Amino acid sequence: MDVLQIVQELGDQLVAWRRDFHMHPELGLEEHRSAGIVAEILRGLGYRVQEGVAQTGVVAVLENGPGPVVMSRVDMDALPIQEANDVPYVSQNPGRMHACGHDAHMAIGLGVATLMAQHRDAWSGTLKLIFQPGEEGADGAALMIKDGVLEDPRPDVALAVHVWNKNPVGTFGATAGPVMAGAEFWEATITGKGGHGAMPEQTVDPVVVAALTVNALQTVISRNVSALDTAVVTVGALLSGDAFNVVPDSATLRGTIRTYSLETRDTVLRRVREIIEGTAQMMGAEATLDLYPLTPALVNDAKITALVRDVVADLFGADALKEDVRTMGSEDAAFFLQEIPGCFIFVGSGYTDREAPAHHNAHFDIDERALVNGVAVVVESLRRLMPIDRG
Ligand SMILES: [Zn+2]
Ligand SMILES: [Zn+2]
Repeated sequence: MDVLQIVQELGDQLVAWRRDFHMHPELGLEEHRSAGIVAEILRGLGYRVQEGVAQTGVVAVLENGPGPVVMSRVDMDALPIQEANDVPYVSQNPGRMHACGHDAHMAIGLGVATLMAQHRDAWSGTLKLIFQPGEEGADGAALMIKDGVLEDPRPDVALAVHVWNKNPVGTFGATAGPVMAGAEFWEATITGKGGHGAMPEQTVDPVVVAALTVNALQTVISRNVSALDTAVVTVGALLSGDAFNVVPDSATLRGTIRTYSLETRDTVLRRVREIIEGTAQMMGAEATLDLYPLTPALVNDAKITALVRDVVADLFGADALKEDVRTMGSEDAAFFLQEIPGCFIFVGSGYTDREAPAHHNAHFDIDERALVNGVAVVVESLRRLMPIDRG
């Protein structure tokens, strides 16, 4: 089985699928059209299909002899963005756009499903395909796990792909260890005492407390986290007051924290809390902190990542492997990979002759050759994870 050749033959179909999904983007947990198309194709290929998992998710299982259970996950949701591209396949839904590449992921997922079903003589085991809704902040992965997607049968290994415009098409990132950050949002409310802007001595000024707090928070990364470790503390909003001559009553800070390990996460969260509460106390104000955990860090298993790297090198040459592809962004496939050892693969989708638009940008688009590349790496990895001859 020459994987690259049989995937090439599917190339036009992959582009057609991707463009159809691109023209009809749907927000998280509203992917009814997308899920319907996916389910119909999977049923036609002979998969056992379950719809409505976590509202709009689709799970498809193909039992093909003895061997391990391997899952491959793609996400389906679009973003609330008005597409600014002038292309024949531009979004037909106002204010909705596939600006992260999840349209490409669905096409890759269907390509993988097609080839694995057509070439059952080339592998032995159980393939579990997961088409996940609501990756962009709608908790889709966690909801699917709550709906039992990791049981009956429980996967032994998990794969997931993301097209990646930062890297040119033809390259791949498969890095062992943490590759995407654990993320939380936080909100601090600083309560002071308002009054006349000309008589600050009669007030407890929350704006000054907020300013001191923002500055002090900069020391968490510089003084509490090892220079060899990785973390981010960002203040994204500072909201207080609206007049020239009034000291407001309160101030609100909002921000995000990103970390690669649980220990660092604990340290950063502790210091953020101490600084917010301590600065307020020092200034005679009061502060409360609310934390909103989003995703854990996404950690790639060393052994499975090594297998995927071998696949990339064998199919595309060792030069196609980009080292150390990691980001402080977050991704809820982390919930799956927290339970099942696996590999999250970055499939280069940027242009080779000019800078590619960033993910979540109104001009986002990909080099569609990434579709064939993504299918090839996943299919060959699945074949090696579920070999016919296990010696
Ligand atoms: Zn995204
Ligand atoms: Zn994404």
